[in-house]
Amino acid sequence: MSFTVPVRQTSQLNPSTSTISNATRRQTVPVRQTSELNPSTSTASIIETWNFGRPTCVCEFCGALHWYEERTEKSKHPQHPKFSTCCMEGRVQLPLLKFPPTLLHHLLDYDGDSAAKKFRRNIRIYNAAFAFTSMGGKIDYEINKQGGPYVFRINGQTYHLLGSLCPDNGEKPKFAQLYIHDTENEISNRLGFIQGDNQNNILQEKLVTDILHMLDNHNVLVKSFRMVKDKYDHHNVGVLKLRLLSNRSTDGRQNNLPSCS
Ligand SMILES: [Zn+2]
Repeated sequence: MSFTVPVRQTSQLNPSTSTISNATRRQTVPVRQTSELNPSTSTASIIETWNFGRPTCVCEFCGALHWYEERTEKSKHPQHPKFSTCCMEGRVQLPLLKFPPTLLHHLLDYDGDSAAKKFRRNIRIYNAAFAFTSMGGKIDYEINKQGGPYVFRINGQTYHLLGSLCPDNGEKPKFAQLYIHDTENEISNRLGFIQGDNQNNILQEKLVTDILHMLDNHNVLVKSFRMVKDKYDHHNVGVLKLRLLSNRSTDGRQNNLPSCS
């Protein structure tokens, strides 16, 4: 089998680009003779890889982090570069992200400790442990039988399934029900829901407890579900319904709230 790998000759590189940033480090990686790949060429070539390091430039308008090489004026080398891919040099006004609660800030810190790294490695499992609903849709399982990169493909309507606020008799609570039913044992219920009989203990009980307290204090939806729980526990109510309503001021197909009863 023969194929041609696109290789850039060093002579094609613009010498001026070697000084565009102190953060840029260039490494020369010798590769096989191209004659091994393409018999018609006998000239040896090398590939240069560029390591840009970490993004150290801050957009003066929105605060986004960039690499120097992402500046708008590529031909110039200003000391204070401008960028367009974040906010079009200030023409697009984006609301700033809210500063996360202390615990979440610690867990998402790229330079954080081993606990933070372990959390991020299992972040999807932690997310599932606190999810309100499961997602429904027609998943195409056939597509990954053909090799190549993994593909997630769904057909038709995609929906979130939010059932009763309380589990049926004999059933264990799951998803949103965990915020309302048997909350005295909520931590063990959540651990059991995710890990089942698997004893690998991927979730750390202490961290699950801390995240739950954080959500109780900061998450609007969790507070709503807790309010329903209090009504359910302390008031003699018959049928109880929870409806999540929002003022629809934007396109209702985007980021609209789920509704449940
Ligand atoms: Zn910007």
